[in-house]
Amino acid sequence: MWSAVRRRTGDVQHLRRLLCSKDKLSQTRDGRENDGKLLANLAARIRLSGPVTVAQYMKEVLTCPRSGYYTAAEASVGAAGDFVTSPEISQMFGECWGVWVTNEWLKVGGPKNPLQLVELGPGRGTLLDDILRTMTRLLPDVGGVSVHLVEVGDSMRRQQRERICSDENSPSGSPQRSKSGSFPVHWYRHLNEVPRGFSFFLAHEFFDALPVHQFVRNKESGGWSEILIDLDPTHSEPKLRFIRSRDRTPATSLISSDDMREVVEISPDASMLVRSICDRIVFEGGAALVADYGGENLDKDTFRAFKNHLPWDPLISPGSADLTADVDFAALKAACPREAMCYGPIDQATFLRRLGIDRRKDMLVKQCQTEDVRNNIESSYNMLINEMGSRFQFLSIFPATMRPIHERFPPAGFQ
Ligand code: SAH
Repeated sequence: MWSAVRRRTGDVQHLRRLLCSKDKLSQTRDGRENDGKLLANLAARIRLSGPVTVAQYMKEVLTCPRSGYYTAAEASVGAAGDFVTSPEISQMFGECWGVWVTNEWLKVGGPKNPLQLVELGPGRGTLLDDILRTMTRLLPDVGGVSVHLVEVGDSMRRQQRERICSDENSPSGSPQRSKSGSFPVHWYRHLNEVPRGFSFFLAHEFFDALPVHQFVRNKESGGWSEILIDLDPTHSEPKLRFIRSRDRTPATSLISSDDMREVVEISPDASMLVRSICDRIVFEGGAALVADYGGENLDKDTFRAFKNHLPWDPLISPGSADLTADVDFAALKAACPREAMCYGPIDQATFLRRLGIDRRKDMLVKQCQTEDVRNNIESSYNMLINEMGSRFQFLSIFPATMRPIHERFPPAGFQ
C-alpha cells in the first residue's frame, strides 16, 4: 500500500539548523537580490498618491507581474530557497494528506464520481505528488481524477510540472499527465478560472501569503489607526517606513465594533477565497483542507519577512524576501456561510497522528538500509510533530448536507 522511503531535501539536520536560526536578522544578500525595480515603483506610487496599506504592499511585493517575489524568483521554497515547508521535510506529511483525501472521497461515493483535486499555491508540487502517489496506491485502478493547480508564478509552475508530471511528452494540445495515475494536470492563475465540479480544495501555506490590513488601537481615542507604508523623508534615496494613519481609513470598516483587541490583522482576500470555495463545495460537492500557521483571534503584529531562512526586515529590498502573516482561522470560519460547515482548527501533530504518521514512520524506519536514512526519518518526524506540531493548524470544510454522514463517520483527523 505504501511506497518505499524517499529521500527529501536531503539532510534534515541542515534543515533544522535553518529552521532554528530565526532569532537573528539576516544580513546576507544573495544572487536573487531584487534589482530595486519594485522599490522604485512603490516609491513612485507613494509620491503620487500617498502611503499604501500593508495589504497593498504585500500584494504588490509578492505577486506583481515579473518582479514580485513569487512571480520573479527562481527558487523560494525548500532548502535552497528562503523557507522550508512540511511537505519538503518528509514524504510522511503528504502521505497523510493522501489518506485524508482518499478517505473523505470514498465516503461520498469515491471513484464513482469524477474528482477535481485543486491545490492553491502548490510550491514545488511536492505535497500533491505525495498525495497522488498515496491515492493511486490505496485505489490502484482509480480513474476520473483531474488535477488543477492555482499558481501565480511561472518558475513555480515549471517546478510543479517537473515534480508532478511524467517525462513523456503529451501530444500537443492535450494536457500534461501526472506520473502517478496519469491524470490530466491543468494550471490557472486564479481560483475562478478552475472549472466547476465536484472538487477537493487543498491549501498548505497559501493563506499566509494573502494580503492583510493591519490596525492598532489608538490609546487616547480608543479608535483605530491603520498601519501604512510611507517613504522616509529623512533619506534622499527611497527608503520605506511604517506610519499610523491619522484618521480612519476605508478598511477600518472591516473591524467589528465589539472587537476589544489592541492589534488586529484582517485579510479580506482570505475571507473572499473561503467564500468562493464554500460556494463551490455547497453547489457542486466536495471538501476543503486548509493548513497554515496561525490561530484564532490573534492579537499581535504577525506581518514579517523571511530570506535565506532568517527573519528579514519586510521593508528592505522588497521582492527579495517572502512576506507573510499568521492566518486567523476564526476569520476563515466566520467567512463560511450556513450551508457549509467547518471542523477545526486542530494542531498539526494531532492531525498527522490521527492519520497514522506514527505507524508510517515505524514502517519507513524498518525499511531503512542505513543508519543515516533512519536518523533522517526520525528527525523529520520530530520536526513535523514536535517542532512544528502546535504552530500549524488544520481546518476542513464540507457542505452542511454532509452532517448526517459525519455524525456516523466524522472527517478523518478531526475527531
Ligand atoms: N504549498 C506549498 C508552497 C507554499 S509557498 C508548500 O507547502 O510547500 C506559497 C505558494 O503559493 C507558492 O507556490 C506561490 O507561488 C503561491 N502563491 C502565492 N500567492 C499566490 C496567489 N495570490 N495566487 C496564486 N498562487 C500564489
